[in-house]
Amino acid sequence: RPVVGVLALQGDVREHLAVLHAEGADARPVRRPEELADLHGIVLPGGESTTMAKLAARWGLLQPLRDAVGAGLPAYGSCAGMILLADRLLDAPPGQETVGGLDVTVRRNAFGRQVDSFETRVELDGLAGGPVHAVFIRAPWVEEAGPGVQVLGRVVGGPADGRIVAVRQGDVVATSFHPELTGDRRVHALFVDIVRRHLADAERGEP
Ligand code: GLN
Repeated sequence: RPVVGVLALQGDVREHLAVLHAEGADARPVRRPEELADLHGIVLPGGESTTMAKLAARWGLLQPLRDAVGAGLPAYGSCAGMILLADRLLDAPPGQETVGGLDVTVRRNAFGRQVDSFETRVELDGLAGGPVHAVFIRAPWVEEAGPGVQVLGRVVGGPADGRIVAVRQGDVVATSFHPELTGDRRVHALFVDIVRRHLADAERGEP
């Protein structure tokens, strides 16, 4: 079984662990740098990215996370997790650090105060079974995506029409919304599938 960690410093860790478990992963909370060593994939949960980044730095996890994702560890970030995976941020406190790995510029709290939280349906490229029910909570969006980034989904309609809310670059996936809160496991299934393929490729590559 693929071992998938969930960064467990803050945020909706339990929800991600439950969905990953349901998708057949050996899902584990990660609080210490040593716990990264056994992982085949990592999830960065929703929560508060400024706090999560500070805690990650304080507990010596930030650089090991950068190294791991930089070395190809599959990663999935929802909401605050998307912010943590972004190479560049807008509307973040000065000096807010990220793990990076996605060649995107992400705007925090992008949907604005008037639409603090909302739900809509988002069609995701390559995901069978119709649009996902997307829950946005003080969510970011991807303002700009680099050439190597695949846009998986955009908002349709309303003031944020066309905004990018799901992306993939290699084995790194991020969504502005929280599939872990909806009972629809397809985004996690997609990620666990990426982890399984990555693991199989790595095993084949070994002497
Ligand atoms: N606004 C939060 C942040 O900047 C993200 C919100 C969330 O994860 N639901 O980190």
